[in-house]
Amino acid sequence: MLDKAYNIKDELVRLRRDIHQHPELSFQEFRTAQLVADTLVELGIDARTGIGRTGVVAHIGPDDGPTIGIRADMDALPILQQNDAPYRSQNEGVMHACGHDAHTAMLLGVAHLLQQNYRQSPADWQGRVRLLFQPSEETFDENGISGATAMIQDSALEGLDSVIALHVASHLPAGQIFFQDKYSLAAVDSFKAWVRGDGGHGAYPHSGSDPLFMLGPILNAIYAVPSRRIDPLRPAVLSLGQISAGAASNVIPNEVYIQGTIRSHDEETRSLVAAELERALSLSQTLGGRFELQITRGYPTLYNDPTVNGWMRTVTADLLGAETAVDAEFGMGAEDFAYMAQQAKGAMFMLGAAIDDGLVRHHHTDIFDINEEVLPLGTAVLAETARRFVTGNIVRNA
Ligand SMILES: [Zn+2]
Ligand SMILES: [Zn+2]
Repeated sequence: MLDKAYNIKDELVRLRRDIHQHPELSFQEFRTAQLVADTLVELGIDARTGIGRTGVVAHIGPDDGPTIGIRADMDALPILQQNDAPYRSQNEGVMHACGHDAHTAMLLGVAHLLQQNYRQSPADWQGRVRLLFQPSEETFDENGISGATAMIQDSALEGLDSVIALHVASHLPAGQIFFQDKYSLAAVDSFKAWVRGDGGHGAYPHSGSDPLFMLGPILNAIYAVPSRRIDPLRPAVLSLGQISAGAASNVIPNEVYIQGTIRSHDEETRSLVAAELERALSLSQTLGGRFELQITRGYPTLYNDPTVNGWMRTVTADLLGAETAVDAEFGMGAEDFAYMAQQAKGAMFMLGAAIDDGLVRHHHTDIFDINEEVLPLGTAVLAETARRFVTGNIVRNA
């Protein structure tokens, strides 16, 4: 599979650059979806468009049997690209700054290799592969739904036994592949809170109640939640991103607004942080004020099934050498693939994709870029994992 992936390297690079030059924002991936559908049809694969609004779904293999899904996201970000690559964005102010262009190109490469394999040896295939080209990983629509959920609501995950995906990592060494079992990326919730008092004249603080003063002890209590209230063996982050209040030097405001982010792995910690945040804010009541708290639940934690990870580790070692498969902590970022991994046994790996010149091109920055040499590697690992799944060369129900 690795040789075959190298054979289509030019095609992978061409597709990635085409998508990179024509980035589209979340749930507006119309051109990208059309490119995906056209490429699949050229390969002789029927594609269904408009799934989860702008997603594309296709099957390779027999009509039934055990089914493995492979997911790629397609959306870009509202960033004005600053690097001057010849394939830079032609859609001013929109940029593929997370590598989803590479994910889409690699999944099209996977489609090519698997369709070839199925045509050559259909009798070996006991199961089938479902290609999931997903819109809007980066953000929610007006109903608070991201692309993975939209696909699930359109039944795109129905009947799947397993689902796999990769994410390029522009800060990790090119060609190495990173795995983490069980909880890896975080559940992400955001919150807004208002601490309220009476406000009043700055010269007469005793005649009202002052929400700015209340905020002092509240901040202490908020920052103490992870360190004093949560089991140190369970990851939890509580960070504020905004505090705003007041407009004049001699007026005590009647309200302070704060907002921030909560990150955790397990559900129990997730609820505990929320409850403790509320308790910290309730200090305002002790000090003569009031508060309001709104928590918006975001992406759940990504749970990487150890069995599925095991398949991909073995494939990586077989194709690229055992030293290529590295165990690593993924950190407290988030991915909406987590919703798909709740529907079927799933796992995502990180594909190191740094350009080796000393400059780190971080995700979501205006100089983001990846090393295109890794495109055949990701393609080969996904395709070979799926091939082994459908041909029974891995123990599917371990
Ligand atoms: Zn991103
Ligand atoms: Zn991403």
